[in-house]
Amino acid sequence: VLSVRNLAKAFGSNVVLRDIDLDVRRGNVVALIGPSGSGKTTVLRSLNGLETPDAGTVTFAGPGTSAGPGTDLALDFSARVSKKEISDLRDRSAMVFQHYNLFPHMTVLQNVIEGPVQVQKRKRAEAVAEAEKLLARVGLADKRDAYPFELSGGQQQRVGIVRALALKPQLLLFDEPTSALDPELVGDVLAVIQELADEGWTMVIVTHELAFARQVADEVIFMDGGLVVERGPAAEVLRAPRQERTRQFVRRLL
Ligand code: ATP
Repeated sequence: VLSVRNLAKAFGSNVVLRDIDLDVRRGNVVALIGPSGSGKTTVLRSLNGLETPDAGTVTFAGPGTSAGPGTDLALDFSARVSKKEISDLRDRSAMVFQHYNLFPHMTVLQNVIEGPVQVQKRKRAEAVAEAEKLLARVGLADKRDAYPFELSGGQQQRVGIVRALALKPQLLLFDEPTSALDPELVGDVLAVIQELADEGWTMVIVTHELAFARQVADEVIFMDGGLVVERGPAAEVLRAPRQERTRQFVRRLL
């Protein structure tokens, strides 16, 4: 589905991504792990058009969803990238944020249908019906008219996940989806993510929950200093890392 080559990004003199390659196959789950500041979030944000890399290519293969039967989408950040290309990129990936990022002045339902109706121009009634189905799936049918502040963090994050699903993306991006949650609320959210993986969603997950990564991910990528230090099947990278830096990181967290 996704192929990233030579992604690079600096904020002023702070070089955050040096040279990142990433491939995600349809139905696969990739976990991005690594120390704070290693650039994981910046990779995700680049895939969702929230950051513009300085160089590198991002290619989505196959038809987009709401955009209809399209072809490959190939962005070359070394050249100028148009607004249309960024909006096509957003159409193919949807992000679940660490701090949920729900619109505080909108109800749960409004939060979920905002993208499909306003951005993707889908019919409101259809978007509502789909949103209700998705909310029921994550046990939040009765919260459709609640406001975010009336929900627990775990419930807000499940709304965040539903909001991403409602966009029908090719790729789901999770940025430390449980790190803002109280420990007792983490399980529910991880269970939803696990279900989506079992259903065959293609996902990239930035997480510090290494036990979860081992369970859910097909591939684990360890980043440090804006580079991929090690990648491979979850069991290998987390159980028997080849690189010393990965070993130290994993030993501390697992
Ligand atoms: P964490 O686990 O703490 O979220 P991370 O691996 O996701 O870390 P990033 O969030 O990608 O790392 O950040 C990498 C570096 O980029 C950090 O030094 C951060 O300060 C810097 N950075 C990120 N976003 C910006 C921005 N918008 N402007 C300036 N610097 C930024």
